[in-house]
Amino acid sequence: MTSGNPIVLSVSGLTKSYRTAGEQVAVLRGVNLAVASGEGVALTGESGSGKSTLLHLIAGLDAADGGEIVLAGTPISGLGDAGRAELRRDRLGLVFQQFNLIPSLTVEDNLAFQSRIAGRHDAAWHGELVARLGLGQLLKRYPEQLSGGQQQRVAIGRALAAKPLLLLADEPTGNLDEATADEVLALARDLVTRTGCGFLMVTHSARLAATLDRQVTLHAGLIA
Ligand code: ADP
Ligand code: MG
Repeated sequence: MTSGNPIVLSVSGLTKSYRTAGEQVAVLRGVNLAVASGEGVALTGESGSGKSTLLHLIAGLDAADGGEIVLAGTPISGLGDAGRAELRRDRLGLVFQQFNLIPSLTVEDNLAFQSRIAGRHDAAWHGELVARLGLGQLLKRYPEQLSGGQQQRVAIGRALAAKPLLLLADEPTGNLDEATADEVLALARDLVTRTGCGFLMVTHSARLAATLDRQVTLHAGLIA
């Protein structure tokens, strides 16, 4: 843990089970995890171990059965759907494996989309993101006119445009070749350092996980 920095995410005793084919399956059995501002944490674990489930709960996209998630001092279980959506919009950056850019918007408008909705658009920071992510020549293009690495750079920029407290990334480099994955992750880490937000990234790659400050593994429903 980055000593002295405030905790932006605190997960304690988190439980979640799903009912499938009439059977109750416990995916998370009491997960504890803390991420400090400025800290990069890699979350690994076998396929099906519950990594995406944990990120969805942290993002407020689904509700836990028990336990607590505290984001920047706010317990999200106390918020309704609207409150969770607002917190997600204003305080979180999300990046997924499938870039999820809006096909009908240019790179420039994709980048600014979330920060505008959040009412936190900052032209100077927008310009810095464009420069650092090397997107200056691509602003008028549409997502389908970009390579995978370029699309993911836009997705990272969009996620960080509103200066979130926490960046959540679920296998963000899973669709990229190794060299492009390294480059995109290095850019993300540089920008995380620049904003001082916390960074929680799910990855299959032990090599990429090792480049973050700390590694945690989800196994049998727990983070040891
Ligand atoms: P990971 O991201 O580590 O591969 P997931 O969090 O996607 O794992 O899934 C963990 C387990 O929960 C899997 O067994 C998966 O089938 C199950 N699961 C995930 N989401 C649902 C859902 N909405 N309904 C039923 N089961 C689900
Ligand atoms: Mg997953």
